[in-house]
Amino acid sequence: MCHKCAISGLRVLSGFRCSTAAAVSSKRFISIPKTYKAAVVTNHGEQFKIIDRETPAPKKGEVLVKIHASGCCHTDVHAIDGDWPVKSKLPLTPGHEGAGEVMAVGSDVANVRVGDRVGMAWLYSACGECEHCVAGWETLCTKQQNCGYSVDGALQQYAIAAASHVVKIPDAVSYVQAAPVLCAGVTTYKGLKETEVKPGQFVSIIGAGGGLGHLAVQYARAMGMRVIAVDIGKTDYTTSLGAELSVDATDSSCVEKITKYTDGGCHGVLCLATSTPAFAMATNLARRRGTVVHVGLPPGTFPVPIFDVVLKRVSIRGSIVGTRTDLQEALDFAARGLVKVDVKTEPLSNINSIFDRLRAGRINGRVAIIP
Ligand code: NAD
Ligand code: ZN
Ligand code: ZN
Repeated sequence: MCHKCAISGLRVLSGFRCSTAAAVSSKRFISIPKTYKAAVVTNHGEQFKIIDRETPAPKKGEVLVKIHASGCCHTDVHAIDGDWPVKSKLPLTPGHEGAGEVMAVGSDVANVRVGDRVGMAWLYSACGECEHCVAGWETLCTKQQNCGYSVDGALQQYAIAAASHVVKIPDAVSYVQAAPVLCAGVTTYKGLKETEVKPGQFVSIIGAGGGLGHLAVQYARAMGMRVIAVDIGKTDYTTSLGAELSVDATDSSCVEKITKYTDGGCHGVLCLATSTPAFAMATNLARRRGTVVHVGLPPGTFPVPIFDVVLKRVSIRGSIVGTRTDLQEALDFAARGLVKVDVKTEPLSNINSIFDRLRAGRINGRVAIIP
């Protein structure tokens, strides 16, 4: 407990001089303000308000992170619009691509120190004990908490995170480059593994020009796959990212063109799109014995053409983000320069405009907020 600091309950680490100005080393001073700015939605379907919030002290097992960059994922749109059957908490600060610096740690935190560069991802915490956690599938834990959905997330200047589930950001990756990898990167990297496409085989990426898609194209290439990109109005962009063939989803011969080019369809299809016509297209793009992986989560359902699925022996599966191990691997690709995030930065005050552009599918790559 610090008696001088504005925040009570902090564990003062060696070298962490705690007053309103704190030092992680003798050379560098960091300060923790009493209040900070946060983006908050009070009801689903409403616009964000920027509010002042009191800086919380991290409790047992928690860390306080100063957010340096926070990516805007389309999941955040679904969260605030109340698109999904299981609704987010309210009021809500979304955001699960938070990259920042640990400013304070609560009690019982041994794996993270003040000054560490960390990322806050969708998986805020998992129980560590259930059959899924034990089997290496913590993303399926039924007791998981989700950053920016069941607990407040990273679209604010400071955020509380579970020490157990923050990931270390490699020194070679800047905060701005790291932020989109924390969801868009790891989700597509894991989704590509789930397609079971081997080097030299075709993978079709639907929604290839968005936040997830533009990284999926690069991960797929780095993993040796031949990339067929599908999006709306973004063929030049997806080709510039490294797609071998880019086709517009609104082209009525889209499936035919891809089937002809690949001589029978794609070995894997990664569906990242934010509108439902993409679902049927995904099945149609699969080669015999191919695997379709659904990642995009627009509200709605889609019919499965059962005859095609059975006769072509197509597998259809879902994929949800990635484990901490997947995330460390995804960040390592970025650290080695194999993927480069196309990210534009904007201030927190632009948040409503950024979300409108996301809803309209008008963003190439990712926008990250510098709060
Ligand atoms: P985004 O808005 O940045 O990109 C979506 C892209 O899909 C846009 O380029 C848009 O033009 C394109 N698109 C829309 N309809 C299309 C269609 N019919 N055919 C082809 N392209 C189409 O969104 P994002 O941040 O990349 O997120 C994409 C989706 O993935 C969202 O639904 C999001 O909730 C979901 N998501 C899922 C997971 C997971 O773990 N399963 C993780 C992150 C995001
Ligand atoms: Zn996301
Ligand atoms: Zn669990």
